[in-house]
Formats: sequence, C-alpha cells, structure tokens
Amino acid sequence: MSYNTVDIADTAFINYLTKLFNLSIGDLRCMVKEIHSEMQKGLSGYSSSIKMIPSFVGLPDGSEEGSFLALDLGGTNFRVVEVVLDGKGKASTEASSKYTLKKKDIQGTGAQLFDFIAECIKEFINEYSLDLHKTYELGFTFSFPVEQTNVAAGALISWCKGFTSTGVEGEDVVVLLNEALKRKDINNVKVAALVNDTVGTLVAKNYSVSDCDIGVILGTGTNACYCEKMLNITKWRGISHRDSMIINMEWGIFDKLPFTYYDRTLDKQTENVQDHLMEKMVSGMYLGELTRLVLKDMANREICFFDRDLSHFTRNGSFKTEYMSRIVEDESDTLSDIEEFMKEFGFISINLESKQILKDICSIIAKRSARISSTAIAAVILWKDPELKETHTVGIDGSLFEKFPGYCDMMYSTLKEHFGSKIKNVKLETAKDGSGKGAAIIAAIAAKSEQE
Ligand code: ADP
Ligand code: MG
Repeated sequence: MSYNTVDIADTAFINYLTKLFNLSIGDLRCMVKEIHSEMQKGLSGYSSSIKMIPSFVGLPDGSEEGSFLALDLGGTNFRVVEVVLDGKGKASTEASSKYTLKKKDIQGTGAQLFDFIAECIKEFINEYSLDLHKTYELGFTFSFPVEQTNVAAGALISWCKGFTSTGVEGEDVVVLLNEALKRKDINNVKVAALVNDTVGTLVAKNYSVSDCDIGVILGTGTNACYCEKMLNITKWRGISHRDSMIINMEWGIFDKLPFTYYDRTLDKQTENVQDHLMEKMVSGMYLGELTRLVLKDMANREICFFDRDLSHFTRNGSFKTEYMSRIVEDESDTLSDIEEFMKEFGFISINLESKQILKDICSIIAKRSARISSTAIAAVILWKDPELKETHTVGIDGSLFEKFPGYCDMMYSTLKEHFGSKIKNVKLETAKDGSGKGAAIIAAIAAKSEQE
C-alpha cells in the first residue's frame, strides 16, 4: 500500500481510512465464496486455511443424565465445575471453584502444570465432599489448538496466551492429565471428553435454544463450530453411528482477505507471523493495537491532532480494545468522557474535532471486525441452508461481542445486507458457560456413546 503523505487534512485522512477499511457487500460476498471453498477443502482433508476439525460429538438430545465435572484451562484462571444434568434437558451448576494460575504453574514443566490441575481437582473434591465411591466423568475444556484424534484424545499443536510448559507440545493432553491424576491418587475421575471452547459454547446454548446450530467465540481470539452431516465430512475415516457431527472450524486462520498496510504491520509484530490472519483483523487481542498503529501513522505524517507524544497512549503496554469500547460509548455532545479518558493519558487542551477523530478511528476498525465476523457467520448459515428455509440461532461467547458498544448491531446490519428480509430467520445471542455446562454435557454424550 502506498500513499502520499503530505497535505492531507485530518478529515480527509478519516475519509481515506473509511474507504481503506470499508468492505463492500461485493467484497463480503466474495469472502463467503472463499470461505465455502476453504470449508470444502478442510472437510475433504486437503490443506486449507479453515481446518474443519471433527469434534467426535454431535448435538445433545437432552437425555443426558447424572453428575459431571468440567475443567476450564486457557485463561488467567483455572476452573473446576460440577454440573448436574437431569435427563430432561436441564443443566445446573452445583459447585464451581476458580484457581489462579501463577507464572510458575504455566511456565514450568508440563508435569508441574498438570500436577497443579490435579491438586485443584483434589481440593475441589474435598471442599464439596464429592462421593469418593462414584466415578465422575469429566469434560476438559482446553482452549489451545489441538489436533483431536478421539473424543478424549488430542495433541497440543502449540502453546499460546503466555503458556510455555515444557514437554506438552505434540503430546496428548488427556494422557498428561490422567498421569497427574494417578500421581495424586485421584481414582474416581475419568476424562471422558477433550472439549474445544466453541464446541462447548454451541452445546451449552443448544441445550436451552434448540435451533442453535452455530457456536462462535469473539473474545481474545475468534473461532466457530457448527453441526455437519457425516456424509459431507469426506475426510472422515472412522466408524460412526451418528448422522452428524460438530466441526471445530478454526476459522481464525482464514486468510483470503484484503489486508491493509496496518494489518501487515501488526502481523509482522506478532509471534505467529502469517498465521491467524482473520483473527488479527477481528478479535479483542488485536483491535486495540490496530487502532494504535493508525494513530501512530497519523502522528508520523504530522496530521495528528495530539499535543503530546503518542507513547502516552501505550504506557501500560498497549492500546487496549477495552479503550476503544470506552471511546465509542461516549454519545455526549461534548464527548466529555473521551476527554476524561485522554486526560488520564496526559493529553491537554483537547478540542472537539480531535475527540471525534479518535472516536471515528475506533468505529471504523470495529466496524470492519463486525463485518468480517458476521460475514463468516453468514457463510456458515448459507453453507448449511442456502435458501434460509430454517431458523438459526448463533450462540456467541466473548467480551468483544458482549461489551463492545454496537458490535452486535453492526453484525445484524451486515447480515441484513447478505440475507435481506430472511434475516428474520437468524438470531445472534450471547452464550455463556460453554466450558462449564457445555463441557459437562459433552462428557455425558461421550460417556453414553462409549456404553453403546
Ligand atoms: P477469552 O476469549 O480469553 O475466553 P473474553 O471472552 O473475556 O475471554 O475476552 C477477553 C478479550 O476481550 C480481551 O482480550 C479484550 O481484548 C476483549 N475485551 C474485554 N473487555 C472488553 C470491552 N469492554 N470491550 C471490548 N473488548 C473487550
Ligand atoms: Mg472464553
């Protein structure tokens, strides 16, 4: 991307950015076609930028019954949950405990990490006086890229999000967990399922909303899953008695997208260059940094409105996506909260135009994110149901979707461009507790199919 750097007024630059980050409905329709082509390749076992990983489970039918445990590993806290399924489609959380993961737990050896997990389970069993004579089936939500080889088996492809425990990459994480359970003398817990967070999200939402057939994550990262007919999973070589299976798409890796200079600059700064390119245009981990790169570019071109050095915006490390939410949220005539925000960062004598520009930049970048994520959803819906004859609820988990002002509305308006009046058949809804209830339900499905 090249452009002239001189003599562009602030508003002209905003117009330029608006065009640069705009994706027309024509662009988005091309994207749908590209996604379909990648989905097809992924399902057939060809190399593809959407992996389409079989999850080994289908949707629940509500008959799941019993008391199950769920583990959630993948963020700042580790969680253990006990969930009771009543066999009539109801799931309730009986007990839940959070444990803080310290640096030594996640950056030591794999054995240290899994011993920590097993120790937490032991504490949980004692704290809630679980029945020591009963075997608890467990669903293990492990929010890292995994090559799943069975419902309760899968090797970690690579760590991310600050985890570096040695001896885990390439290994089956369920085996490692089982070894740790044995070391800690925990004999009444059986790992029944290894769960991807999108799959947990879909299953948990489907339990209460029966037309929910797509699960999406819009948080730190982005990903999705949906239920696919076995016949279409042509790479499937195993035996299966079911007629459909949930596919973990891993859509964050999709890369047939129009990248700007800012996207390329951001990508070069990351640890995983040329990887997860759609995720880097969409998710919470990156939108703030994209905004910062635009602001920095404006400062370099001396068309910046700031009266102080831009580094003030980054004194805590980076420009967070949360800041964008706060900026966009200000609906006041004088944009007084934006002013407050900028003052916190050491800016003085801020005029209205500057505040408006900052707000515009945040909106432009968030809008592109919402147009891409909703178009990816449109692609999945059109793949399953080209005429939109049925209703589809999309269960969405993640702070970007939940907390970014207007994000959901921007998704709906993009979907309307795709679907016209048939938009009435599509609902986007917040889905919570995929890693608790969702994982427990999946453990129940897995345990049941093992008995069959
Ligand atoms: P995770 O995806 O790690 O399971 P979350 O769904 O809570 O967890 O997503 C956390 C991410 O969401 C953060 O990395 C941040 O980028 C983004 N986020 C958190 N709060 C907000 C907010 N108020 N507005 C926009 N983005 C947010
Ligand atoms: Mg999450």
